[in-house]
Amino acid sequence: MEKTLFQKIADREIPADLVYEDDLCVAFRDISPVAPVHVLLVPRKPLACLSDATPEDAPLMAHLLLKVGDIARAEGLAEGGYRAVINTGEHGGQTVPHLHIHIIGGRSLQWPPG
Ligand code: AMP
Repeated sequence: MEKTLFQKIADREIPADLVYEDDLCVAFRDISPVAPVHVLLVPRKPLACLSDATPEDAPLMAHLLLKVGDIARAEGLAEGGYRAVINTGEHGGQTVPHLHIHIIGGRSLQWPPG
């Protein structure tokens, strides 16, 4: 199966500004940031979207959520706050079919999104 863009970044086949990696996930700066800090956290496992996760992915999903907090702290977002977003499917605005968590902060964010 063709690798997704984010798999290629995780495998270092496409360059990215990595901020974190381990056996299960990688995090890198979004190429088109919407805020002073905009990091994408991506599992190495090529789940297409959040809805593709199954109970066997529970440890991976927990790992990802815990890493959101670690990365936010490392990026200096813990005090001011930040947003973690998982766009899912067409109506959710997902453009890359590989599960990813946006970690966005460094400015005041509006709600609700458009
Ligand atoms: P989504 O719209 O939720 O699927 O988010 C995909 C995100 O990937 C967008 O915010 C893009 O700016 C970002 N993106 C696309 N290509 C790259 C790339 N090569 N490196 C880093 N971020 C990227």
